[in-house]
Amino acid sequence: MKIIPRVVRKWFTEAHHFTGAIIESERIGSRIQRVRIGLPENIKAPFPLGSYVTALTWDCVPRCYSTAKSDDHSFTLLVSFSGGGCGARFFRDTSVGTKVLFYGPFDDFPYRSGTGRPKVFFATSTGIAPFRMMLEEAIKEGAHSTIYLGSPKESDIAFKNEFEDLAQKYPGLVTFNPVLSNGDPSWRGARGYVTDYVPKNAESIKESDIYICGIPPMTLGVLSALEDIGMPKKQVFVQKFG
Ligand SMILES: Cc1cc2nc3c(=O)[nH]c(=O)nc-3n(C[C@H](O)[C@H](O)[C@H](O)COP(=O)(O)OP(=O)(O)OC[C@H]3O[C@@H](n4cnc5c(N)ncnc54)[C@H](O)[C@@H]3O)c2cc1C
Repeated sequence: MKIIPRVVRKWFTEAHHFTGAIIESERIGSRIQRVRIGLPENIKAPFPLGSYVTALTWDCVPRCYSTAKSDDHSFTLLVSFSGGGCGARFFRDTSVGTKVLFYGPFDDFPYRSGTGRPKVFFATSTGIAPFRMMLEEAIKEGAHSTIYLGSPKESDIAFKNEFEDLAQKYPGLVTFNPVLSNGDPSWRGARGYVTDYVPKNAESIKESDIYICGIPPMTLGVLSALEDIGMPKKQVFVQKFG
């Protein structure tokens, strides 16, 4: 029993950490807060693709968030409200200027460059975060990318304009497929769940590198659909939110 406090104390004092200040905070639809954090001078940035940080919310509750954007002076997170827990409430209710302690960045979901295969990104809601920067990397190396992003409504899609602009600018390289589970009658795009698109595109998916990010029911659903089509496991990379 004694070992647990010792391990926790060691992690909290010795893991790489820094204090960042919230410099922008914006609501996206009904479920997401986009938060931009300013970095202190001594922090090595930009953060690696696919990295995440652990925020010490309310000064005592750690919550992990993937880095959606990162430059020399700041990084951006997408925080989901869907669960309504303390991490969600912290970033929803905390004002610009507040300082927050972060651990990381932790780098366990890298982009695999140079495989020669197209990329297919599966996400729901804030699971799109790591794919915002990976998409730019895929464009740089000339790999075709397809994004399947599940959201309840059109207004809940994070980075919608940016993905649409990239798809328009690089028509041979970027395909953006938002999939709505509860779209308004006026929605003309895809409906249903991202898992539906695995059997529909089985042959092209098997030739691709697959990246999956989001809450466990979604990641497990996509993994199971991939298994059903005989997807080679070495081409599948996952970041599970829990
Ligand atoms: C490596 C890693 C990266 C992560 N990146 C992100 C990220 O970029 N954005 C993000 O919002 N979350 C991310 N998460 C999940 C995040 O750390 C929190 O667990 C989650 O946001 C819920 O925290 P909470 O305090 O708001 O709710 P909690 O009190 O912890 O949970 C309340 C309820 O919410 C459900 N829930 C948990 N996660 C989610 C979610 N993402 N969406 C909807 N319901 C959820 C739980 O099952 C639970 O029922 C990540 C987790 C990991 C491990």
